[in-house]
Amino acid sequence: RRKWKRVMGVLRELEEGCETTVGRLRQVVDAMAVEMHAGLASEGGSKLKMLLTYVDNLPSGVSGIGIDIKFFAFELSIYTMSSVRLTFDIVMNEKGTYYALDLGGTNFRVLRVQLGGQRSSILDKDVERQTIPQHLMTGTSEDLFDFIASSLQQFVEKEGNGSTPSFVRRELGFTFSFPVKQSSVSSGLLLKWTKGFAIEDMVGKEVCECLQQALIRKGLDMRVAALVNDTVGTLALGHYHDVDTVAAVIIGTGTNACYLERTDAIIKCQGLLTSSGGMVVNMEWGNFWSSHLPRTSYDIDLDANSPNPNDQGFEKMISGMYLGDIVRRVVLRMSQESDIFGPASPRLSMPFILRTPLMAEMHEDDSPELTEVARILKDVLEISDVPLKVRKLIVRICDVVTRRAARLAAAGIVGILKKIGRDGSGGITSGRSRSDIKMRRTVVAIEGGLYTSYTMFREYLHEALTEILGEDIAQHVILKVTEDGSGTGAALLVTKFLHRK
Ligand code: ADP
Repeated sequence: RRKWKRVMGVLRELEEGCETTVGRLRQVVDAMAVEMHAGLASEGGSKLKMLLTYVDNLPSGVSGIGIDIKFFAFELSIYTMSSVRLTFDIVMNEKGTYYALDLGGTNFRVLRVQLGGQRSSILDKDVERQTIPQHLMTGTSEDLFDFIASSLQQFVEKEGNGSTPSFVRRELGFTFSFPVKQSSVSSGLLLKWTKGFAIEDMVGKEVCECLQQALIRKGLDMRVAALVNDTVGTLALGHYHDVDTVAAVIIGTGTNACYLERTDAIIKCQGLLTSSGGMVVNMEWGNFWSSHLPRTSYDIDLDANSPNPNDQGFEKMISGMYLGDIVRRVVLRMSQESDIFGPASPRLSMPFILRTPLMAEMHEDDSPELTEVARILKDVLEISDVPLKVRKLIVRICDVVTRRAARLAAAGIVGILKKIGRDGSGGITSGRSRSDIKMRRTVVAIEGGLYTSYTMFREYLHEALTEILGEDIAQHVILKVTEDGSGTGAALLVTKFLHRK
């Protein structure tokens, strides 16, 4: 009985440590907006790198006469919409077959997108996924890129006859979801690895060059025409489907976001001129940090034992690579405090043995006896025969960890909306209530396995968005899932920048 009390003490401490009241979330929102400003003001001004992408023009697939209207109501009263800008998008009629290669997490994908007709409508799409062998994630860049180039070669060989005439060189969009300092839409240096990748020889190198050289080694006549962060690909596809899309968020193995910023707000890059007056900024928000983030001893230990300590703090509290391991650490602590899990299981001390999809299965087990929880405890952690009370405790731990993650992700999204004046706060002046504000329809494209496959995570995220924004404003904010946007969007962007160096 005393032992159970100790376990309850650990649980209570966890709950308190993970607390995300709406007040605290609003502090995170503010901190996110402040850090965004700081990261745009100067190089190294914030943990948020706020990287330039050189994407200043997003595809739009809506039918019509090719006028792309973008309103920039940043920080100004949404009511007056003082700065309205129109950009005339040249009607594109790029026809043909475009390729994309999407590297960034546990899988990589090769895609073939068939474009044709008016406004380069997507006619067809083929996607193949492959898991990256673990040893290639920590080996040499040559080995990794040779492997990728081989897969691409096999994929290209399957292209139907006549899709690309033999004298036409194929164009490739490369989605690479790690922090890159870009110097143009098709070049950039790798700043660092994240999400378990560690190929030291590649840090500081030209990313496209590594791929291009591997393609040459394979004798594959293809040009890497665009280097795109996965969030930027997602934004491109989101915008193609819906021109009100202003930002994109990915919550999968890792997490990141990008959004459309006015060039004159990118102070660290004086004189940046684009025809649209805007540019997509890759936030690299996984590295966001603020003292307002609710951090526990489990987070501190997880960070200290990771290959990138003091790095990617936000990501380590939110994304799929880590959530299962936070739960494992809590269970380990409880098993050390008591014998409720029976004899100590050595499995509990193995980092990352409890993957997030399994954690989600336990969390969402709706059988009265929690049979899935029992099965996973037994199969994965080698803990058997625990009573129902203990299985319920496991569900509770999963709930606390996921709820915190989802609510912090929601706060991050509102942080972006605040920065661009779409959180509904800009127009409040004396005598005017929140409900009087005319809020523009605002779409955020979203992707990633954690969001799309983990229902509880998604629901907690939506709930927090509404709590932070209030219902009146939240109804104008739409999260739209794109499919394979990170890759497809890269193929679309290739057509945009085909004639540019
Ligand atoms: P990427 O690895 O490129 O981020 P995804 O966006 O598909 O690929 O995300 C995969 C990640 O999403 C997995 O690593 C896992 O953490 C998480 N995930 C996938 N399916 C589920 C699920 N059913 N429940 C919870 N998390 C999931």
